Amino acid sequence: MKKYSFLSLLGGAMTGHRRWRPVWRNPEPRPAYDVVIVGAGGHGLATAYYLARKHGIRNVAVLEKGWLGGGNTGRNTQVSRSNYFWPQSAAFYEHALKLYEGLGEELGFNIMLSQRGILTLAHSRQELESLRRWANAIQVNRIDSELMTPAQIKKRVPLINLGARYPIHGGFIQHRGGISRHDAVAWGYARAADGLGVDIIQQCEVTDFMQDGGRLAGVHTTRGAIGADRVVLSVAGHSSVMAAKLGLRLPISSMALQAMVSEPIKPCLDTTVLSSSVHMYVSQSVRGELVIGGGADVYTSYAQRGGLPAMHDTVTALVELFPAFSRLRLMRQWAGIVDITPDTTPIMGKTPIEGLYLNCGWGTGGYKAIPAGGDTMAYTVAHDEPHPLIRAFGLDRFERGALIDEGAAAGVAH
Ligand SMILES: Cc1cc2nc3c(=O)[nH]c(=O)nc-3n(C[C@H](O)[C@H](O)[C@H](O)COP(=O)(O)OP(=O)(O)OC[C@H]3O[C@@H](n4cnc5c(N)ncnc54)[C@H](O)[C@@H]3O)c2cc1C
Repeated sequence: MKKYSFLSLLGGAMTGHRRWRPVWRNPEPRPAYDVVIVGAGGHGLATAYYLARKHGIRNVAVLEKGWLGGGNTGRNTQVSRSNYFWPQSAAFYEHALKLYEGLGEELGFNIMLSQRGILTLAHSRQELESLRRWANAIQVNRIDSELMTPAQIKKRVPLINLGARYPIHGGFIQHRGGISRHDAVAWGYARAADGLGVDIIQQCEVTDFMQDGGRLAGVHTTRGAIGADRVVLSVAGHSSVMAAKLGLRLPISSMALQAMVSEPIKPCLDTTVLSSSVHMYVSQSVRGELVIGGGADVYTSYAQRGGLPAMHDTVTALVELFPAFSRLRLMRQWAGIVDITPDTTPIMGKTPIEGLYLNCGWGTGGYKAIPAGGDTMAYTVAHDEPHPLIRAFGLDRFERGALIDEGAAAGVAH
């Protein structure tokens, strides 16, 4: 894998940028692999990379029906944090955040991580009490979190309207939370995995599975059959339909989640502000655009309806909290299909079908998890047993009733 350096960039500039080579190959599928990963989102690509780098398993293909990073990984609002409530989640997401902190260097690719903090608002005394409990739980998990008074919030976010319809009573911040560049995360993992010999095959849709007795033996694709000892399903909002082909029912609801960006403006917001009560969060990108998100479409006041009404709710909440933003024009709006579990905790690990592994159920918050998702899935596939950090996230928790309810900590989509 080519290392970027000041000299290589200078050399590229001096030769009119004509000598850069593609950063990953475009290989034809081979008849069989040791491991096939379905879905070249962040989780699939990261799993392939760690399989090759940490476990020496390089005979791996990542099959993608569209283009790599074109699913939710390229559509999210890029927020990372580890301020979860339950110890199992906190340990997992803190592992992810720590990996993110060194990821640019590890992959030799700038992921533009900006740890500008993530501030969660409380709009009532009761909500402030809940945030206090949440912040304490986070501190017990040895993760940074700090309560803020309204005056401290105003100092940090001068444009905020403390006297909004639901007045702001305080909030709490995780200073190490922040944003990074989602495309760069996908491209960085793809480039590094390719450099280690992984085949990333785009425009290759998995249409069905091959079974040999009770064991998985490979996949049927739009580019022919591909054999595999182990198959990892990492297809986010498409998980239920894919698993159903094997007779496996997943406790997942797939629904649309929208986001939008405004026209670019001068720097005016140097943290991410999130409100679970009015269902809105906003940050400012390095290009100056406001990146705005809300809850999945089902949570709108126009229950069970999405599209424009959901956007309307999100924008209403934004201008209530930031009246100055009411003059801005929106430039783009889009959605992804997210895979939501009843306890808003992912489903990871082995399945009742031998050779099939699941990495799904990320819902509205799987971007922040990508490095840990890949790392722990790679371990699980290599050892055929769940990594200790994801033991509690298995599909069997729904049979055992051992749910990890992160509904409150999931808050708004982020
Ligand atoms: C609008 C929006 C905002 C969000 N904001 C945040 C945020 O701020 N922070 C956060 O942590 N998370 C956020 N998320 C959630 C996050 O984006 C996802 O949880 C995460 O990207 C999931 O990654 P993935 O690799 O599992 O899935 P994806 O990136 O969706 O990758 C799955 C891939 O599988 C492919 N695929 C599907 N079916 C097949 C098939 N049959 N054959 C081959 N390939 C197939 C798809 O084309 C896709 O590329 C947001 C999501 C959305 C939609």
